[in-house]
Amino acid sequence: MKIMVSACLAGENCKYNGGNNRNEKVLELFAGNEVLTVCPEVMGGLPTPRIPAEIRDGEVVNKAGISVDREFRLGAEKCLEIALREQPDLVILQSRSPSCGVKQRYDGSFSGTLVEGAGVTAQLLIQNGFRVVDVEDL
Ligand code: SF4
Repeated sequence: MKIMVSACLAGENCKYNGGNNRNEKVLELFAGNEVLTVCPEVMGGLPTPRIPAEIRDGEVVNKAGISVDREFRLGAEKCLEIALREQPDLVILQSRSPSCGVKQRYDGSFSGTLVEGAGVTAQLLIQNGFRVVDVEDL
């Protein structure tokens, strides 16, 4: 099986704070499957570490009030390009991220409030028919 995963789940230090979300269940998938790792925020040109961002009224804005919408959407497009080329059977993404979140994301107030809805990349992959799951549902 070919699987696309959020790079931070595979232990890459690409998270906004310079850390990762290493997940043992994801790492187990490397045995016997072809695994592609992607970090849409880095692929969109953002540095690591970076100021955390949330989606507010449809636009991705960081905690300093600067729009990073263009970078987030560029990263999402690049992930979609890879997915269209590689045709993964499954995409596993990190929970609650403004890029990778599948079921929930923060509401843009930077107060830790969650709302229903996907991040930018997850949404684009779902819209294009890919089978996308939240890592918490593995
Ligand atoms: S954009 Fe996705 S892959 Fe990159 S650090 Fe955030 S959750 Fe992980």
